[in-house]
Amino acid sequence: MRLGDADVAARSSFWLHQALAGDRDLAEPLEGEVSADTCIVGGGYMGLWAAIMLADAGQSVVLIERDICGGGASGRNSGMALPAWSKIAALLALGGTEGAVEVVRASGAAITAIDAFCAAEGIDAWFERRGWLWAASCSAQDGAWDESIALHEHLDLPPPARRVARDEIAALTGSTAFVGGVLDDSAATVHPGFLARGLRRAALRRGVRIFERTAMTGFARRGAPVVTTPRGRVQAGHLVLAMNAWSAGVRHLAPAIFNIASDDGVSKPIPEELARTGLQGGPLVIDSRVFVGGWRATRDGRLNVGVTGGIIGFGGRVDARFDAPSRREADMRALMQAEHPALAAFPLERAWCGAIDRTASGLPLFGALPGNPHILYGYGFSGNGITMTHVGARLLASLILDRDDPLRDSALLRPVTRGFPPEPIRFPGAHLVRGAVRARDRAEHADRRPGVLVRLLAGLAPSGVTPSQANIRRKE
Ligand SMILES: Cc1cc2nc3c(=O)[nH]c(=O)nc-3n(C[C@H](O)[C@H](O)[C@H](O)COP(=O)(O)OP(=O)(O)OC[C@H]3O[C@@H](n4cnc5c(N)ncnc54)[C@H](O)[C@@H]3O)c2cc1C
Repeated sequence: MRLGDADVAARSSFWLHQALAGDRDLAEPLEGEVSADTCIVGGGYMGLWAAIMLADAGQSVVLIERDICGGGASGRNSGMALPAWSKIAALLALGGTEGAVEVVRASGAAITAIDAFCAAEGIDAWFERRGWLWAASCSAQDGAWDESIALHEHLDLPPPARRVARDEIAALTGSTAFVGGVLDDSAATVHPGFLARGLRRAALRRGVRIFERTAMTGFARRGAPVVTTPRGRVQAGHLVLAMNAWSAGVRHLAPAIFNIASDDGVSKPIPEELARTGLQGGPLVIDSRVFVGGWRATRDGRLNVGVTGGIIGFGGRVDARFDAPSRREADMRALMQAEHPALAAFPLERAWCGAIDRTASGLPLFGALPGNPHILYGYGFSGNGITMTHVGARLLASLILDRDDPLRDSALLRPVTRGFPPEPIRFPGAHLVRGAVRARDRAEHADRRPGVLVRLLAGLAPSGVTPSQANIRRKE
């Protein structure tokens, strides 16, 4: 089967358009009953990496996807593959030291592994090791990275990044808007859509049976895993729920996450402007706001801009608004106006959004449902899923194959607990907190101290790249 023109046209993500132009393959939906060693629900990076690793270990794998593989966050993100060192405080607060160190190490190794995998499989995912500039656009946010770097020092680990001053940032990016920052050379950029579709092809080559347009409608909570779909059933030795934000629709998984959109835009090709302003070939840039903003140049000479803290679905629902074109083009331009004015007039090609499954600590969680070691979950990537899905797939494969793995002693392996209040408190509460985060950010950029209530409410925001101090200290 092949995806039709109308289906491709209806997708708002620029990356998916580019990727689907050369790969319209669509797997048949599931009809009837199938069985496998492992059934995976969700065809994003998480499900696909898990499928590939399990197939490589000799398992038979069935993967079901409600839409198309890559149709979720994996085909919509900003393509910034970051190591996890900025999350070290949360890793230490929620787990042991050795586990924390292993997660940071594994996240760095995942970047190398993604590159090597793509090279070996003939996937041109535009992998480029450009480095990551984490910078502050106002003095109140300067040093957002200090605690993470100090913790590395304290643990006798090599510094994960080096401090860069205003002049060097200007030389690297063409922007004079930042007051300071750190540069981590290990981070990379990828083409999200080419990566997702490439992983799908690699899974199919390994004999993974993929069924697209096949939603899980339910699963047996007790005994051997059985997954039901509208026209079929899957029986499996293990079940992996790799559903990202849609985990909010699963009663056992919902309490740990809070879904909020991130929005991305891609410009028409502007290689001359990028070269003239110094960004082409430069690092990916992320600021230090709680609702972080980021931008980078793509390999084909476009500007990719991302803003976070967007729409919220009641009860975590990923409703139709998450598939519509983004309404935040003005916010993207305002971000560039503030952080790289020479690029703020970028001619937009497309803007879209997608749901982010934030946990309170900013760390994803993996494990088995209580009372059933055969039903596993991996979600809560909080906007950092490109590397962490690879790390998480390794952990889930270790659990399923009963392999020793130091990741088993890390904070990644933890039970589902309530990170946020239930509805009907969550939805209005989230809007209040979102408003306070924006107000605090405006005040900080105007060199004003935000009011007590704003500080209090903004402190309740879940962690992103920049950890929320209140939340990482709180046991999830
Ligand atoms: C706009 C945006 C920008 C981002 N930028 C970055 C970035 O720069 N760097 C980074 O590291 N991360 C980024 N992320 C986050 C990253 O994309 C995700 O963390 C990552 O893709 C998660 O992979 P996943 O497989 O868990 O989720 P997904 O790719 O969302 O896959 C989950 C899949 O499960 C399917 N599914 C759901 N329910 C069912 C069901 N009932 N039955 C069958 N299938 C189901 C969905 O259709 C979906 O395809 C960004 C996300 C967004 C939205």
